[in-house]
Amino acid sequence: MRPAFDDIFMELAQNLARRSHCIKAQVGAVLTKDTRIISIGYNGPPSGTHNCDEEFPEVGCPRDSKGSCSLALHAEQNAILYAVKNGANLEGTTLYVTLSPCIACARVIYTMKIKRVIYLDSYADYKGIGVDEGVEFLRKFGVQVERFHKLVEQA
Ligand SMILES: [Zn+2]
Ligand SMILES: [Zn+2]
Repeated sequence: MRPAFDDIFMELAQNLARRSHCIKAQVGAVLTKDTRIISIGYNGPPSGTHNCDEEFPEVGCPRDSKGSCSLALHAEQNAILYAVKNGANLEGTTLYVTLSPCIACARVIYTMKIKRVIYLDSYADYKGIGVDEGVEFLRKFGVQVERFHKLVEQA
């Protein structure tokens, strides 16, 4: 069976997540345009700074007020920043991410004119909070957001 591009890119995002050095959460992202990959990212402190798993193996990542790693760029941010640093135009792109965007990433995604976001797991479920505020923000302002469902798991 020929895999769909959605399956290919989400599988890549899941593999990228496993490269994260963060202990608290591991998230991967793939940014695409017209079925081609523009950029990739996973969560972690900026390159050349910290590796959470090596520096804080006992206590885990230093937390911010929301319980996330206080040093890390999110996977979406890393993917977007790399693309922008290299002069890519992100208008009309699709972002695959293994965890739905937080509100801070949602603001960046909207600003960059990314048109579609496909996510695997819910940030709200992960955080134990009521609403996926990032997803709500994106939908409210016209970005298509879909939860990924792998075909084989629906059967
Ligand atoms: Zn960390
Ligand atoms: Zn985020």
